Amino acid sequence: MPDPIPLVDLQAQRRRLDGRIERAIARVLDHGRFILGPEVADFEARLAGFCGVAHAVGCASGTDALLMALMAWEVGRGDAVFVPGFTFASTAEVVALLGATPVFVDVRPDTFNLDVASLAQALDDVDRWDLRPRAVVPVDLFGQPADYAGIEKLAASAGMSVLADAAQSLGGRLDDSRVGALAAVTATSFFPAKPLGCYGDGGAVLTDDSGLADVIRSLRVHGQGADKYDNVRVGVNGRLDTIQAAVLIEKLAIFDEELAARQRVAERYAAALAGVVETPAVAPGTRSAWAQYTVLVDDRDRVAAELARAGVQTAIYYVKPLHLQPAYRALPTGPGGLPVCEELAGRVLSLPMHPYLTAEVQDRVIEVVREAVG
Ligand SMILES: *Cc1c(COP(=O)(O)O)cnc(C)c1O
Repeated sequence: MPDPIPLVDLQAQRRRLDGRIERAIARVLDHGRFILGPEVADFEARLAGFCGVAHAVGCASGTDALLMALMAWEVGRGDAVFVPGFTFASTAEVVALLGATPVFVDVRPDTFNLDVASLAQALDDVDRWDLRPRAVVPVDLFGQPADYAGIEKLAASAGMSVLADAAQSLGGRLDDSRVGALAAVTATSFFPAKPLGCYGDGGAVLTDDSGLADVIRSLRVHGQGADKYDNVRVGVNGRLDTIQAAVLIEKLAIFDEELAARQRVAERYAAALAGVVETPAVAPGTRSAWAQYTVLVDDRDRVAAELARAGVQTAIYYVKPLHLQPAYRALPTGPGGLPVCEELAGRVLSLPMHPYLTAEVQDRVIEVVREAVG
């Protein structure tokens, strides 16, 4: 049997970088400034430039980036923060940790992203819960930017702030703007399997707002003021490690090339799998970062099992929507519940997707999917 085909292939990327990461890490070991060393500010400047925003603040994880953005806005008890039900736990977790209430809204069946009509209904209904609408956290699921124009308009009319959860979409675009510049504040993640991943945990907040960037720089070091033993607010330990920043500088240098390769892989899948499974829709003017290539199939668990038997690794993001998870099921949802989230959870299947997937290997995946679907 041929080699198994992994969902992502970080070793192929490491070979492509040909010792550059090892040398970058060695430089950090030599200078020894492991906490907020020079590579952190260097990476932040490069990332801000890449995204076209004034500030990038490196964080310990994508979750901390989301958390600190909400902390900077002083989100707390009595506040409603609207989040899609079909996402990773972090999006709602950070809201609940601050004592605010996540209100789950439904997603669109075509893009899997937050449904503006569902958000409008949930907003109309929020009085019932005695909550103050405070913020919305759209998620760019699987790499595709959400409908920021529609969300921003509705948020502005309700006096809410927009925090983009771009953990999966760094490198994506909407018209001429990159992810990072699509909302007032954006949080992203450098978890190893994300489009721009480091070799551990990492994340960043992106914004044009200098005051907010300063508050987040303070929050990530225990709410420091003039120095770290001057605590002007309650903060966290939320810094990006120097070693991770050094890794990210090397990976950012080839990121545009990798995004183009992901796009080619996505286009080949779309052409070969049309009519076999439901392939993902990309909204007009939008460029996905293709963190995942997620298709919809009936009889998903059987198809996934057949792919596994043929040596093709797949994943299910997400088996259970957040509003049905034990930790979150007592929380409010928009009126009518979240039927699209629930349907998607039973039909999604993510196929191998990374910049180093060759046409030959991809053709094997395609063939196995065709056979499994029958
Ligand atoms: C990965 C992810 C996060 C969290 O990022 P971490 O760096 O793992 O903390 C948040 N939201 C979404 C949608 C994610 O996919």
